[in-house]
Amino acid sequence: MLELLRPDLYVASLEDVDLDALAARGIKGLLIDRDKTLTAWRSREVSAARREWVAAARERFALCVVSNTIFYRGVRAVGDSLGVPVVVRWGLGRKPFPGAFRAGLARIGVAPNEAAMIGDQLLTDIAGAKLQGLFTVLVEPVQGREFPGTELIRPLERMLLRRWGLHPQGRSDGDQRP
Ligand SMILES: [Mg+2]
Repeated sequence: MLELLRPDLYVASLEDVDLDALAARGIKGLLIDRDKTLTAWRSREVSAARREWVAAARERFALCVVSNTIFYRGVRAVGDSLGVPVVVRWGLGRKPFPGAFRAGLARIGVAPNEAAMIGDQLLTDIAGAKLQGLFTVLVEPVQGREFPGTELIRPLERMLLRRWGLHPQGRSDGDQRP
């Protein structure tokens, strides 16, 4: 059961995701979480490094932002600024339920086994995507406050990562990440 939560890759930050490695796996589409993966919680600001990464990724992959929130406009503003479509879901359509992933894949026309989900939460982004057959990439959460419900889950996530002996690849400064 716990294996369902275990990411295929774990990196320090979105910009540490190796696009060559994803392409080598036959991946054609990327679903990307918004809060604490692409931006800080509920933020519309994407760091320069992540913008560069998204621009490079767009040249090689079909991208879609998939976000659990009721605040559609903030996510759309981020997507518009990056030239990336967005899927926003809440209720039973949100991650980890299948609807969010299916909607994202339908938006970019990519099959689950040719797609990767990149996100910061094991119980939503990773578990839901693995159930749908996607490759999964966990990022360390962007610094700053977050949804109170998510804060409660973080100790469990850290415990699992320790238990698996997983350490993030890439830059690990831990701060300076807006
Ligand atoms: Mg997130």
